[in-house]
Amino acid sequence: MEPYVIVGNGVAAVNAIETIRARGNTSPIIVLTDQECAFYSRPSLYYIMLGRIRFEDAWGRPPEFYERNGADLRCSTTVASVDPEAHTVEIEGQGPLRYSRLLLATGTRGRFLPWADQDLRGIITLNTLLDVTNITDLLSDSRAAVIVGGGLTSIELVEVCRHWGVPTTFVMRGSHFLDRQLTREEAELIHERLRMGGADVRTGEEIVEVTGENGRVARAVMKSGEEIICDIAGCTVGVTTNKELAEAAGGETDRGIVVDDRMRTTVADVYAAGDVAQVRGPDGKPAPSEMLWYVAADMGRIAGDNMAGGDERYRKRVFLNAAEFCGVDFCGVGEIVPGQPDVETITIRDPAREGSARLVMRDGVMIGACFLGDIRLADIARGVIAQGARPSELPADHPLRLLLERRSP
Ligand SMILES: Cc1cc2nc3c(=O)[nH]c(=O)nc-3n(C[C@H](O)[C@H](O)[C@H](O)COP(=O)(O)OP(=O)(O)OC[C@H]3O[C@@H](n4cnc5c(N)ncnc54)[C@H](O)[C@@H]3O)c2cc1C
Repeated sequence: MEPYVIVGNGVAAVNAIETIRARGNTSPIIVLTDQECAFYSRPSLYYIMLGRIRFEDAWGRPPEFYERNGADLRCSTTVASVDPEAHTVEIEGQGPLRYSRLLLATGTRGRFLPWADQDLRGIITLNTLLDVTNITDLLSDSRAAVIVGGGLTSIELVEVCRHWGVPTTFVMRGSHFLDRQLTREEAELIHERLRMGGADVRTGEEIVEVTGENGRVARAVMKSGEEIICDIAGCTVGVTTNKELAEAAGGETDRGIVVDDRMRTTVADVYAAGDVAQVRGPDGKPAPSEMLWYVAADMGRIAGDNMAGGDERYRKRVFLNAAEFCGVDFCGVGEIVPGQPDVETITIRDPAREGSARLVMRDGVMIGACFLGDIRLADIARGVIAQGARPSELPADHPLRLLLERRSP
């Protein structure tokens, strides 16, 4: 029996394996990953560097997972190409391997900014366990860091540098941190916390060059001409999908690999799931990938089910992104992009917790909620959004009705 081959070993891949087996399918499964070890949680990398959890707490499944599920895990193994006619993948340095069905769960990689020589010691990103080793190694003898970007990974890097006592400049092009999810006022709370912790927050700025001395990062130059002496530079902004295998095999790609709601690519017997995949929407266009853990897991389950002969379809859930920034809990649910023209926004400030709740309505129906500080109502808000409910029609003692009564003038 030709095996199912899975390229990648992230959360999409392991959920596919579990679902294939849950359907009682006994086909051999071979997992090929250029990762050096078994599946681990990427969101945990940050907490490892803060010393809040140990390496071994980041394993996403117990060590016996692969054996128990009859999956042959081959680490440090890179797939170079796919030949859909021959139904083979070409393994770098090893040759072809046949598949009956193939899942591409290849995720993303950091997009390095062009002005930094990536070979300089001190250029960092955060995506893998190897990055954790590299960063902690560098931090032990660093004097100053510059971190570029206004997103989640960037602030995690800033926090890690602060935790290690390395003075850090946080440079972002936008007007504020996480500007696709937070308003300026909300972000100011985070900026303030960062500054209190010693970080130098620069908004509306850009790094245009990073130069080195003796192979190590030495300074970063900002658009304004100001130079920052540093020996660490976090130089990734956003991510690029690892879509090349599908692209070269003739599959349809956009920002990622385009799939239907059964996670089938346009190439026969080839599926894609997780951060690398973009599901075609009802309008036929590939929807932007949300690149979140639960989304990748959902897609992996759907891919596994369909590979094993099922007929499950992917249904997008209401967006939910939860994190902690500088000790402030954050949870964004649904549509919360600030400044949308056709929405009504209601903000409830919570001075006791230094936080706020922002509820976003369109035509009286709740479509988004952004919580900072107290995030306990986030799941309830998600349910209300999923139902398309109007807060004004919720029972009088519903927590969201009670929250709305505390709205700020
Ligand atoms: C630092 C960090 C923090 C995050 N925090 C959060 C969070 O708080 N909440 C949240 O929802 N999401 C978070 N995410 C995003 C989340 O981790 C991803 O959505 C999720 O890991 C995607 O899983 P995946 O299975 O699609 O891909 P990945 O986990 O990226 O796995 C891709 C796999 O493909 C393999 N691969 C790629 N190309 C090849 C090839 N040619 N040959 C062989 N193997 C290959 C890689 O080795 C890897 O095993 C975070 C991500 C990072 C990096």
